Amino acid sequence: MKQIIKDIDILGPQESAPADFLTSLESNTGKSKKLYIESYGCQMNFSDSEIVASIMKDNGFDTTADFESADVIFLNTCSIREKAEQTVRKRLSQFNSLKKDKPGITIGVLGCMAERIKEKLLEEEKLVDVVVGPDAYRDLPNLVLEAEDGNKGVNTFLSREETYADISPVRLNSNGVSAFISIMRGCDNMCSFCVVPFTRGRERSRDPHSIVKEVRELWAQGYREVTLLGQNVDSYKWSEEENNKARLNKNTEIRDVVNFADLLEMVALESPEIRVRFSTSHPKDITDQVLYTMKKYDNICKYIHLPVQSGNSRILSLMNRTYDREWYLERVAKIREILGEECGISSDMIAGFCTETEEEHQETLSLMDQVKFDFSYMFFYSERPGTLAAKKYADDIPLDTKKRRLQEIIEKQNQLSLKRNQQDIGKIQEVLVEGFSKRSEDHLRGRNSANKVVIFPKAGLKKGDYVRVRITDCTPATLFGELID
Ligand code: SAM
Ligand code: SF4
Repeated sequence: MKQIIKDIDILGPQESAPADFLTSLESNTGKSKKLYIESYGCQMNFSDSEIVASIMKDNGFDTTADFESADVIFLNTCSIREKAEQTVRKRLSQFNSLKKDKPGITIGVLGCMAERIKEKLLEEEKLVDVVVGPDAYRDLPNLVLEAEDGNKGVNTFLSREETYADISPVRLNSNGVSAFISIMRGCDNMCSFCVVPFTRGRERSRDPHSIVKEVRELWAQGYREVTLLGQNVDSYKWSEEENNKARLNKNTEIRDVVNFADLLEMVALESPEIRVRFSTSHPKDITDQVLYTMKKYDNICKYIHLPVQSGNSRILSLMNRTYDREWYLERVAKIREILGEECGISSDMIAGFCTETEEEHQETLSLMDQVKFDFSYMFFYSERPGTLAAKKYADDIPLDTKKRRLQEIIEKQNQLSLKRNQQDIGKIQEVLVEGFSKRSEDHLRGRNSANKVVIFPKAGLKKGDYVRVRITDCTPATLFGELID
């Protein structure tokens, strides 16, 4: 497996930043054809590529790390910021020359860009043969066949029910210890800056029994950590009769509903030794029941990704986040009360949203000081066509001001990360070993419960082991330690 680290425009201090790399991959199970996939954007997309690989495997394709030897190339794309789309477009033009030498190759654009600009892709990028949105992956084998016959294969239908619950993902982007499990799809929130509700459709929750089954299979294969994924996991809501959130909310007769706290408990109970994480939590939806469930089970990691976006209530209202500064701070106080100081909290931040004043930007910095985030993913605002903000508000903050504010947010976060990490020095923490340190084969790398990367001497340990480490030193991004036992 070959990973090309590629900075799109996401800034996170962690070695394990989930959202900014392309992946190439290799599998050899004797199939007659080769598929090459590159994934861009968020963890949901990487998880979707694993579903795509599984569907294609059942239809005669092994995966390859070498696009030049592929029969089919898929780019699983992201639309969240303009730069992410530009990166994909550049990549597509690089594939242009390949197609000249190898006209039989099929090139497909999948995911959010496929959904957002399907016509443009087909017209402008003449080399694109297949365009498929996030809910139509079951149709991929047919569409590839159509493309091989010289037609364009297009399906951007957004489903109200599809969750791919029955598909066993082919793990592509995994260290063999941690796996990602999609528990829901789509998003019913309408944050004014965000393109996701338009590209990934309405919110649906996956059958909890299929999730628990996947956890059981992962454990049997040697995995020791699962991360439950959704745009807004606290909004998870499923019943036997209905998996669509909007329809479930309207139907008052349905009584037997599984919510996110219930699901978390079901997964935690499946194996007390498998670590459970989840992402992303929404400040308006995270409940005390979820926090108490986290406290009750040792194997649920004490870490919450709780994006605030801005520290100013007027901007939060323009962003349509449906909470204000006080609400957010109350949720953080509750996390501290129930789970204590050591629970990791991280955030996403947007600098320079429409009409943001200098004072309002300062409120983001002061909120960061108050919460003391362990780390953040930080962006400047990028207007996305079709979103509520693009329709209603002028993108009126000059680019250099956005960048300067972003830089101030990054500097603030670096100071806070260092302080938070320094508080860990001297403490003994349980770490799950994920592999070698990037810098030295004499050292291993793992993560503690709060999702921080810890580096420590190898000492005969291997991937998947749990170890107790005393933290002895740190940088803003990494903890260093010595083994205890
Ligand atoms: N569902 C998650 C939530 O609500 O927190 C986040 C999903 S989004 C894929 C990840 C992050 O991208 C957001 O939290 C936000 O900070 C950032 N983002 C989304 N749209 C953006 C835009 N138009 N410009 C800049 N950043 C954006
Ligand atoms: Fe986008 Fe908001 Fe949904 Fe997150 S919760 S995916 S930011 S609309």
